[in-house]
Amino acid sequence: MKIICIGRNYKKHAEELGNDIPSEPLFFLKPDSAILTRKHAFYIPEWTNDVHHEVELVIKIRKLGKGIQNKFASRYYSYIGLGIDFTARDVQAELKSNGQPWEKSKCFDGSAVVSHEFIALKDLGGDVQNLKFQLTKNEKVVQSGCSADMIFSVDELIVYLSKYMTLKTGDLIFTGTPAGVGPVKTGDLLTGTLEGNHMFDVRIR
Ligand code: ZN
Repeated sequence: MKIICIGRNYKKHAEELGNDIPSEPLFFLKPDSAILTRKHAFYIPEWTNDVHHEVELVIKIRKLGKGIQNKFASRYYSYIGLGIDFTARDVQAELKSNGQPWEKSKCFDGSAVVSHEFIALKDLGGDVQNLKFQLTKNEKVVQSGCSADMIFSVDELIVYLSKYMTLKTGDLIFTGTPAGVGPVKTGDLLTGTLEGNHMFDVRIR
C-alpha cells in the first residue's frame, strides 16, 4: 500500500506558512514504514529540532482505479480515518529553499499516524465535504478543521491522483491539514477527534 499526502489543501494553512494558494493539488508520498505502530509512542528523531503536527482526514481507497472520472470518484472510498502528517519543519524549509523534494522531512519512521479505526462515511452523516475534526495538545485544541474548507475536494483529489498513479485497495490519502500546525516536544500528548469520535492518542517521546 502507499500513502499519498496532499500539501496546502486549506487556504489558512497555506497562508500561515507563507505559501501561495495552489492552482492544482500538490502531493507527495510516505512509505508504509512511516506508519506509527499502535503500541509505540512517537520519538522525535535526533536530526531535527522542529517536528510539527499536521492533523488530516484520511481516506481509505476501497478498490483499484486509474483515470477515475469525477462522477465515479465517490465509489472509491467509504471509510474515513484521521491521521497526523508529522513534518520536520526545519528540514523541510531547507529542502524547499534548495528546490529539493520534501520526502526527507516527511517520510521518517513514525511520521504517519493513522487512526486504528476508520468510520463509515454514512455513520458520519454521509457528506465527505462536511466533516469536522480536531487535534488537541495536552488537552488544549490546537487544530480545528472542517473538510468544507478544502481547496480541492476529496473527489477532485481522487480524479487528479488517479491520472498519475493507479490507486489500489488499502491505499491511504492524507487530505491536507488545516491551520494551527505547530511544534511538539517530549511529554506532549496529542489527541485526535473526528465528528466527536475519539480517534487516537499519541505520546511524544
Ligand atoms: Zn500534511
